Amino acid sequence: MKIVCAWCSKDMGTTLPENHSESVITHGICEECMKTIFAVSRAELGAFLDSFAAPVLVVDETGSVLTANKQARVLLQKNLSDIEGFKGGDVFECAYSKLPGGCGETIHCDGCTIRNAIMDTFQSGKSHLKTPAYLYTGSPDDRAKVDFLISTERVKEVVLLRIDKVGSSEET
Ligand SMILES: [Zn+2]
Repeated sequence: MKIVCAWCSKDMGTTLPENHSESVITHGICEECMKTIFAVSRAELGAFLDSFAAPVLVVDETGSVLTANKQARVLLQKNLSDIEGFKGGDVFECAYSKLPGGCGETIHCDGCTIRNAIMDTFQSGKSHLKTPAYLYTGSPDDRAKVDFLISTERVKEVVLLRIDKVGSSEET
């Protein structure tokens, strides 16, 4: 079976690269395109991210959100100006991000399943695929649990975070 880059239509041969199993989000994009998209042009990155059907956020190693695709902005009901440069907890309106120190610095952050998946992917380079995660929105005193299924993938110096599902995992 011939594999063609979903971005530039270049022939990628017939076998998947060895590390393909880690490409849970960007699979089907050739190495060259990945380089261009993430190194050269911000506009290209935006178009690339928007090509995914699911919400995708780009997170740096400090837990700040660099950018998010259209689908993520719809999900979060936020504009880029309220996403770019903000901590993940602020973007998702995590109840604990309102505590002193903010996202990543409170006593609750060690147990944050979203943060841990992202940081693990940064450290190990390993992707997570449709991993259950949750956070609490609202305020620490009046919080509501939100369940997610998330996927992560490291691309160079960033991690892509895909929201595969929002809502209780008991639902189908
Ligand atoms: Zn390509």
